[in-house]
Amino acid sequence: MTSRDEAEKAVFTLLKYLETDPNREGLKKTPRRVIDSWDEIFSGYKTDSKSILQATFNAEGYDGIVLLSNIEFHSTCEHHLQPFSGKAHVAYIPVDRIVGISKLARIVDHHALRLQNQERITNNVANDLVEHLNPLGAAVIIQASHGCMRCRGVKKQNAIMTTSAMRGVFFDKKEARNELMQLIENSS
Ligand SMILES: [Zn+2]
Repeated sequence: MTSRDEAEKAVFTLLKYLETDPNREGLKKTPRRVIDSWDEIFSGYKTDSKSILQATFNAEGYDGIVLLSNIEFHSTCEHHLQPFSGKAHVAYIPVDRIVGISKLARIVDHHALRLQNQERITNNVANDLVEHLNPLGAAVIIQASHGCMRCRGVKKQNAIMTTSAMRGVFFDKKEARNELMQLIENSS
């Protein structure tokens, strides 16, 4: 692993790529600030999905859809190190265990706060729900706008990318999927 000191020096090297005087006042603390912000936006490497989803409760017979919609998130594209952000809708149908609702937001952050692509976040959140909650079905839909597309390349400001992962009954049954879509529509 690269040490913090080496990481700050690498940022200094990148600054020198842009400017002849990376020691000017405004840039003096930039290497430290950049690595401080990296510790925050990449904190998903330090969290663990099992411990996030382990505190479950008796569902007391509830067998409908549990949906947390419009979970805003920020992530970083692994190809360009550009931010991408948007909202996630996360749903599952419990068999006999439910999880605290804030954990659904935390599991999104756990995957988003890394070097990522949107497809992988979508898949990994769904897989974690299946693995740790053993639900009848799990579904994740993510809509995001990508910095690497807004500011460079094709330069499309308003393009929204949507990805979805359907597991269990949401994959098998059109009725379950339709009910989910209706609930998402009603909550946005
Ligand atoms: Zn990108």
